[in-house]
Amino acid sequence: MYLFKQRAALRDFLEQEKKAGKRVGFVPTMGALHEGHLSLVRDAKEQTDLVVCSIFVNPTQFNDPKDFEKYPVTINEDIQKLTGAGADVLFLPAVTEMYPEGVNAQHPAYDFGYLETALEGAHRPNHFQGVGIIVHKLLDIVSPTDLFMGQKDFQQCMIIKRLLEITGIPCVLHIRPTLREADGLAMSSRNMRLSAEERKTAVQVSRSLKTLVRNIRLQPFGELKETARNELKNAGFLVDYIEIADAGNLQLLSGPIPGPMVALAAAKLGEIRLIDNMLV
Ligand code: AMP
Repeated sequence: MYLFKQRAALRDFLEQEKKAGKRVGFVPTMGALHEGHLSLVRDAKEQTDLVVCSIFVNPTQFNDPKDFEKYPVTINEDIQKLTGAGADVLFLPAVTEMYPEGVNAQHPAYDFGYLETALEGAHRPNHFQGVGIIVHKLLDIVSPTDLFMGQKDFQQCMIIKRLLEITGIPCVLHIRPTLREADGLAMSSRNMRLSAEERKTAVQVSRSLKTLVRNIRLQPFGELKETARNELKNAGFLVDYIEIADAGNLQLLSGPIPGPMVALAAAKLGEIRLIDNMLV
């Protein structure tokens, strides 16, 4: 696996590869890699000729400075895992490489519309603008033919779909299913920061979502959400939201629709904020 830290060098390298007609698959991450990330790398490996993974903890998407400072960093293990999963290139830039203009400089504002004000957007001010800025920068450098992202971050996938429309960047977005631990907890880099006790409790997010989804045609949505909220509160969570939305546009629903729906949850356990979702 090649390691690049400078964007100019990576761009030059990839230009040559693309001239040779290769499809380039791209998996952007913030590191502290787990099987969920690696499943994206393996999918990219199957569907493209050259797999680029980036590891960059992007300061502009953190609304909580403590969350940024404490974000897990496990570079040596990540390199081992990426090599094992068959990644061809790792892009590991410094903050100054990605933000030579400074992280606090004025950046273009994207019009993500409703997507930016709902759910994660409402609870994490400016988060999706930060995501848009960094993914746009990374796509400019890598210009992949294919981009691989996880359904775990459902709203983020919708934001990136919109970003591709806004910028006209021609790349196919592949959204892959959420990988889970044996007990159902959605894999996440932040899980590493849970205490042993919190780790046991954390499974309640997926349990409550699963119960909600199982009963979605049997009970009013208000009741389903109230039950899930109470289960999480009783387990010790501070709940940001439990919602059921139209999976096509994320508009919140008060009753079932014929098309695909998605149940989404975000809740804090101690210092750690967990999110999860399930398609219906
Ligand atoms: P992150 O490093 O958390 O920014 O995630 C990088 C990519 O991996 C994003 O596209 C995530 O949606 C995806 N991802 C994170 N957790 C999982 C998971 N449990 N299963 C599948 N993909 C995931």
